[in-house]
Amino acid sequence: MGALWGDLGSWLDEHGAVLLGLLLLVAVLLSVTAVLAWRQWQSRQRLRQRLASAHSELSDLRGRDPLTGLVSRETLEEELAATVTGAEAAGRSVCVAYLGLDGFRAINDAYGMRVGDAVLKEIATRLSDWLGGKPQVTRVGGDEFALFCKCDAAGLDELARTLQRIVGQPLKAEALNLQVGLSVGLALYPDDGARPRLVAHAGLAMRTAKLTGGNGHARFDPAMSVNHREHSELVQDLRHALARGQLLLVYQPKIDARSLQITAAEALLRWQHPKRGIVSPAQFIPLAERHGLIRHIGAWVIEEACRQAAQWREVGLRMRIAVNISGHQLRSEDFVDQMLDSLRRHGIPPNRMTCEITENLAIEDTPATRGAFDRMRQAGLHVSIDDFGAGFSSSLAQIRRLAPAELKIDSGFVKDLEHGEDARAIVHAIVQLARSLQLHVVAEGVESEAQRDILVALGCDELQGYLFAKPMSATALALWASGDGPSEASAFRPSLFDPTAPSNLE
Ligand code: C2E
Ligand code: CA
Ligand code: CA
Repeated sequence: MGALWGDLGSWLDEHGAVLLGLLLLVAVLLSVTAVLAWRQWQSRQRLRQRLASAHSELSDLRGRDPLTGLVSRETLEEELAATVTGAEAAGRSVCVAYLGLDGFRAINDAYGMRVGDAVLKEIATRLSDWLGGKPQVTRVGGDEFALFCKCDAAGLDELARTLQRIVGQPLKAEALNLQVGLSVGLALYPDDGARPRLVAHAGLAMRTAKLTGGNGHARFDPAMSVNHREHSELVQDLRHALARGQLLLVYQPKIDARSLQITAAEALLRWQHPKRGIVSPAQFIPLAERHGLIRHIGAWVIEEACRQAAQWREVGLRMRIAVNISGHQLRSEDFVDQMLDSLRRHGIPPNRMTCEITENLAIEDTPATRGAFDRMRQAGLHVSIDDFGAGFSSSLAQIRRLAPAELKIDSGFVKDLEHGEDARAIVHAIVQLARSLQLHVVAEGVESEAQRDILVALGCDELQGYLFAKPMSATALALWASGDGPSEASAFRPSLFDPTAPSNLE
């Protein structure tokens, strides 16, 4: 036994250090494994928690719009059904509002989808906040929302104005300061249809509001269903109108306020529909814009106006030509090149062409519109800001930057001139502004001699309106200008053929 212990003792003496090392190694390995296992357990726990919260977010988001987080159309319809039932019992009415953003497409085109998405999110948040976070608003399409709230017929106008105020407030998207307008369609339960038709009816009302220029509101009317069908037919017909030769231009002169000489002819589009007769541009241009037909039509207007100007020049009529430019045209890359190409082919100097662009469009101030204004100026084209004052939103700085050649006072002020002090003061202010920036001022929609006298006294440079001439065919204008028209027309004759015509004719 003593020998055994002795052997063990001497073995330990010899290998003790190695054994200790092995034991230490095992201990280190065990603790590393334990730490790793602990870490793994912890990260699994975290993953499990994240999965659980993602799962709950997902189930929360189920049926929600992934971009804005608003409830789905189905949820809205369910909530609406419950509210309608409750309101019915209490004898109250419920209003569905269908909202269409005005000018959203322009923002998307100009700044890209990220900015567009940020705008939609912000609008969704505002609407949802206004409804106290209740599931009463949904996004029904790209830039369209539907919501419902308790409201009676007397409160509809106020409701629409409130919604326009909420949406129309300036917003910041990706460091850009933006603003969008709003068209609102309203349908009231029970007066404006059964519950399942309310959203559709409010949608039709919104489309009607858009067709009358946007930034307004309309309440559903059963006639709108018929109108909607009519619009679809009209769009179908409009697609073929150009190819079938149904579009034509009429011309309305602008008159020098003092000399009464014709300074320009504005080209105004008409559609000679085979069944409906003459369709107004106020009716079909918004349709052409919405259905992607305006660039084609706009290019034709420019080409036709240039062709006509060249023909007039051949017979000695040397007035400036003016065309109306729509937003889609202005935003298209090749607009100015196309315009210059038409002018060149017909031998018309660019400075004889006036592009009438509405104030609302001019102040849009996106890179695309800014670029178009710069290119127009560089090319020597004249720019006229049409319907000036209607929005009263241009700042002096903006007008300076856009550097137009002309301001065309909105006809609304001209109409009110004789009786409204406000209108007179506004026209006076616009003329002063134009003077200080050395711009021409044109007043349109002049119908009476009293209006003409006030406008002349206030210092307008040019006048246009039924008092002088209604829009007419190119041939009629040529005859009218050469003295075969109404008696007053003879006053224009010398100027048109006079080689020493006033400088603003050149
Ligand atoms: P606008 O450019 O402001 O044109 C003036 C409108 O007022 C014209 O209506 C003209 O016929 C009408 N008008 C002229 N003088 C008088 C007057 O003394 N009294 C009254 N009550 N009205 C007068 P129109 O031709 O129906 O055109 C309506 C709008 O359609 C135009 O408003 C313009 O914005 C648009 N438009 C017309 N042609 C074109 C076009 O070729 N392209 C584009 N993009 N828009 C066009
Ligand atoms: Ca115009
Ligand atoms: Ca106008």
